[in-house]
Amino acid sequence: MHTAIRAEMQAAFQTVYDSNWFVMGKHVESFEKKYAHFNQVAHCIGVSNGLDALHLALNALGVGEGDEVIVPSNTYIATLLAVSYVGATPVLVEPNINTYNINPSNIEKAITTKTKVIMPVHLYGQACEMDAIMLIAEKYGLYVVEDNAQAHGAAFQNKLTGSFGDVNGTSFYPGKNLGALGDAGAVTTNDDTLAQKIRILRNYGSEIKYHNEVIGYNHRLDEMQAAFLSVKLSYLNEWTKQRQQIAQSYTETLKNIGDLILPVTHPDATHVYHLYVIRTQHRDALQHHLTNHGIGTMIHYPIPPHKQNAYTSLGYQKGDFRIAEEIADTCLSLPIWPGMCIEDVKQIVSSIKNFFVIINKKF
Ligand SMILES: *Cc1c(COP(=O)(O)O)cnc(C)c1O
Repeated sequence: MHTAIRAEMQAAFQTVYDSNWFVMGKHVESFEKKYAHFNQVAHCIGVSNGLDALHLALNALGVGEGDEVIVPSNTYIATLLAVSYVGATPVLVEPNINTYNINPSNIEKAITTKTKVIMPVHLYGQACEMDAIMLIAEKYGLYVVEDNAQAHGAAFQNKLTGSFGDVNGTSFYPGKNLGALGDAGAVTTNDDTLAQKIRILRNYGSEIKYHNEVIGYNHRLDEMQAAFLSVKLSYLNEWTKQRQQIAQSYTETLKNIGDLILPVTHPDATHVYHLYVIRTQHRDALQHHLTNHGIGTMIHYPIPPHKQNAYTSLGYQKGDFRIAEEIADTCLSLPIWPGMCIEDVKQIVSSIKNFFVIINKKF
């Protein structure tokens, strides 16, 4: 996909290079407008990366020490780190074993008088059950901050992820569905006041140069990445369709093989397949087999947050989040990218079938 847009990307580079203006300028402004339009929100604030986007979102809401933030037990560590950055405590909630997204029926049990925010993560590219989550948030007077790093363009009941929450964060890390050529991210919100607050916070707490209103950060997006992102954003819908076609092809051809569990999409949700994640009790052996046949796979993620050394202070034990542990022990992400050809899919599927023929002989 980088070959197809090479000329446009090089032109973007040249334009920024010749402008001699590299941080926070017209390319950032223009990308922000385009992404806000794409995400159907009033405001997009371009920032340095996805983690900083989530950090700014929580910071702008005034979340801090003594507050609790509900996050899924099977998320990427960045979701928790953002909570820690503002001094609040992440409270883990188990996902639905079919969709891998936070299970709304587990959320209420985790709410205490300290809870301030629910942070749903649209994991692997599938939209969370936002209707139920928004109802719970309303009932208990909680904020919602979506972690939309993996799901640009996904929707629940026809409303886009990144447009439900009070303020939301996304990532344009190179490997995401919309990726820069380096680190980048964005905050999205429909709230004018929060948007203004975040614009100030990302730039040293300053609106007018050398006038500092609050203790802010350097969480800015640079012109080069913004220009690259603008080029790539115009291809995103097409790339998403290609991801969905590849996923469909996997799902049709991997049915009824061994103990394989294929991705399940909630009937009201769309899935943009940032990752195509299968599960099997023979995960490690399957991964080994595929590696030996030149097929690269990944595990998202091998260690759930409650078992990470960084979070021993939360006091969780092994066995506390069995669904997250089960997913971590059995999940495997198959290759998927826009432009991937059907022949590649066929070869991968045939290699997986072979693996299960071999292990069936063993048992
Ligand atoms: C990638 C990712 C992030 C962090 O984004 P960065 O740009 O790498 O900081 C946060 N949450 C989730 C779910 C992610 O996948």
